[in-house]
Amino acid sequence: MTYQHQWQDGTPVSWPVGKVVCVGRNYAAHARELGNAVPDAPILFLKPATALVPLGPDFAIPSGRGSCHHETEISLLIGSALTGQVSEAEARAAIAGITLGLDLTLRDVQNQLKQQGHPWEVAKAFDGAAPMGTFSPLSAATDLADLSFTLFVNGEARQQGHSADMITAIVPLLQFIATIFTLQPGDVVMTGTPEGVAALNAGDALVLTLGERSWMTRVR
Ligand code: ZN
Repeated sequence: MTYQHQWQDGTPVSWPVGKVVCVGRNYAAHARELGNAVPDAPILFLKPATALVPLGPDFAIPSGRGSCHHETEISLLIGSALTGQVSEAEARAAIAGITLGLDLTLRDVQNQLKQQGHPWEVAKAFDGAAPMGTFSPLSAATDLADLSFTLFVNGEARQQGHSADMITAIVPLLQFIATIFTLQPGDVVMTGTPEGVAALNAGDALVLTLGERSWMTRVR
């Protein structure tokens, strides 16, 4: 079935499904857990639209390609174009929806690619590499600096994050991205993962929470 972005009430998002812009190492503790330096500027990479799949009721991970890690990330649905130098207000206004997504990462493959100085796409941009929750419309009242989220795997809290701990906060991140990649309605921005990344296994039961919202899903 072809993926379509959905609102939390189950209605489809009218914009086409676009690219996913991701940021690496946006939480200092996660950069350290992987032995990476904390970067001076956001480290950006892309996943194609074909990486997107619904987060629930279940999703698949690749088999026979080493460990596949969960990276739980606040994910933003873009609702209006952002390109070049944009103001804070323009960047904020372009966020139409918010959810949690998983930046699935073939960690063993990624480590090999990094050692060889090669790009990461094979480890991060494969089909199904971005299971994405249903989006909540963003209201003017949403405080983007006060978003807490959690990933539970088989009942155990694996990742706990708070948007205040981002190295580059959401609005400046969008402003930076727009100077490199034009963001269009239907694109998604994944804002990086806190510490606690680990391998997923078939049969794992996941619960993700973002503020008052939660999603249950399972690894096929
Ligand atoms: Zn990530």
